[in-house]
Amino acid sequence: MERVMADCRRFESDSNCQITIIGPVDDVVAAAAQHAEASHGHQDTPELREQLRQMLEPEAAYKPGERQPEPFPA
Ligand SMILES: [Zn+2]
Repeated sequence: MERVMADCRRFESDSNCQITIIGPVDDVVAAAAQHAEASHGHQDTPELREQLRQMLEPEAAYKPGERQPEPFPA
């Protein structure tokens, strides 16, 4: 199964979150949705999960260390 990354370092956030989640697509979306709810005040909805899917990057895009954050897409 394809492995992907959801990287909180990619976007500006109030908490300057540094979490990176890597794994199979469905697991990453589930973990990212739980994380977004627990740590970022989002509600875990089908819309949120769809949005998270759009933000996934290939596992090979992972680089260790700090990442220059982009503004969160509106
Ligand atoms: Zn986060």
